[in-house]
Formats: sequence, C-alpha cells, structure tokens
Amino acid sequence: MYKIPLSELKEKIIATGKITDTEFDGRIKAKINELSGLISEEGAAHIIANELGISLVPPSDAKLKIKEIYAGMRNVSTVGKVTRLFEMREFSKGESTGKVQSIVLGDETGTLRIVFWNDKVNEIKDVKEDDVLVIKDAYVKENNGNKEIHMGDRASVEINPEGETVESVRKTTSYERKSIKDLEGGEDNTEIMGTVVQVFDPRFFTVCPQCNKRVMEDQCATHGKVEPSFSYVMNAVIDDGSGNIRVVFWKNQTNHLLEKNDEQIVEYKDNAASFEDVKTELLGEQFKLLGRVQKNEMFARLEFHAQIVEKASAEEELAKLEKE
Ligand SMILES: [Zn+2]
Repeated sequence: MYKIPLSELKEKIIATGKITDTEFDGRIKAKINELSGLISEEGAAHIIANELGISLVPPSDAKLKIKEIYAGMRNVSTVGKVTRLFEMREFSKGESTGKVQSIVLGDETGTLRIVFWNDKVNEIKDVKEDDVLVIKDAYVKENNGNKEIHMGDRASVEINPEGETVESVRKTTSYERKSIKDLEGGEDNTEIMGTVVQVFDPRFFTVCPQCNKRVMEDQCATHGKVEPSFSYVMNAVIDDGSGNIRVVFWKNQTNHLLEKNDEQIVEYKDNAASFEDVKTELLGEQFKLLGRVQKNEMFARLEFHAQIVEKASAEEELAKLEKE
C-alpha cells in the first residue's frame, strides 16, 4: 500500500462528493471500532474508499504529478523539469564498484529527487538543468522522510521529448539556514550564506566522455581506450561573520559560481595566470550555498560540499531578517 498521508486520503475521498467531511470522520471511527482498533486511520480510509468505489490508485500508465507520487508506488511515470543536477558519485561495495547520480525534477506541484544507479547514470550524462524529462516505470522509496524515485532496470527516461513541456516548478525542498560556527559535519540539506574570502585554483582531471568516471592514461575501466574529457573541482573559503569554512565546488557548481560554461573553464587549465583575475573578482562576493557538511578526516577540517550555488540577494536577506 502507498504511504498516502491521512489528510490527503481524506481530501481525495471527499473530492469525489460521495461523502462529506463529517461523515468521513464518523466512518473512520466506526471502522476502527469495528476492527477493534487493529487498523490505522490510513488503513480505515483505504477500506472506506474501497467500500465507496473510489479508486485512490491512478491508472498505471498515467503520468503522475509530483504531488501524486507516494512511497511504495511501482511503475510510476511522470514528467518534469530538471531543477538540480548533482555530481555523479562512485562507490565501492566489497569487490564491485558502482556509481550513482541524482537529479531533482519538478513540476507545478512540487519537486522530487530521482536516483539513477550504475548503467542508468549513462542515460543522463547529457542532461542539463531545465531539460524536460519523461520518467517511466520507476519505483518510489522513502529516504529520511523524503520521497525518492528510483530508476530500476525496467525504468526509462526520455530527454526533452517533443510535445512535453513543464511551465512552472514549485520548489519544495527545505534547507535549513545555519551559521558556519554551528556546523558540525554530517549535515545534509544545509544552507549557508557568506562572503568569499579566499579562492583556490581549480584542479582538472580526466574523465571518460561516455560514463564520466575518472580515467587514467586514457583507459576507462568500462569503455577501454577513450579520448578523455576534462572535469574539475574548485575550492573557496566562505566567511559569514560567525566563522569560515572551505567549500568544495564540483563541475556544475563551479560553473554557477563563476557564471561560465565547461569550455570556458577548461581554458584555464593551460592558462592559470588568467585565472588570477577571476579569483580577484570573486573575492568579496556573497553567495547562498546549499549542500552538505562533511568532515575531511585527512585534513581534520570541515568542508561544505555545495550542491546549489546562488548569488546572495540583498532583498531576500532583508526579508529574512524582518521575519525573524
Ligand atoms: Zn567509461
């Protein structure tokens, strides 16, 4: 059974006009009594819907709105716009290695994280923010109280198919704003706001153009000899008055930070001197960063891994202060 919250079940059932608000509450109580309390309110609501001939389950081939997607669903299809693109991460489990990459997809009802594993990661290697994706036959899991779409073997993704548009996106992810001095390491979904006080040169490395994994001497473990492309990572120190932290910007985040594209940034690889101007320009700039806090054991320091980089907006910050 899907995990649909009681309030939403009630809303759906009452919307059919087959039962009123008060009747619904009465029938829930009666049903729980009838079953000697051995059922949850949600369970009772499902039974009542069934008794009234109300289908809470959308037809299996329908494209669902993000809001209509619940943990436990299988064969889910949906369409949305990419609002965030996270870096691909490699991991090892015993003898084998794998990779995982997630994106955030949104429509006018909300946003949702979509997780691609192993070979599925290759299918989104050219995906950019604002691309429209049609997801089919995926399943939905709950992770730390959040719904996530997982791309299993049967799942498929279409990128910018003709005729599919997504007009607006309602952002729902909530990030908690923290002072840098309060960061401890291990926090996810954290927001900091501060000024760039130090900038380091980007570091470049070669990746396989097909799977984005790091390659050494043009040899990809999966794709053999390849013509590698370049990826990069960049660090900067951000200060918010309470303290400072070293922030790690991977490729997409570096692009946002510098407001440049891949080609423009790769040019600095052989021309480090020209990057000095970029550094100077960045110093003193204020950014709002969303991401996670990690302990770097080797250097015994905290690092902020930026996932979303936005120029701080003075109006937004003032509004926030007024609210507090
Ligand atoms: Zn490869």
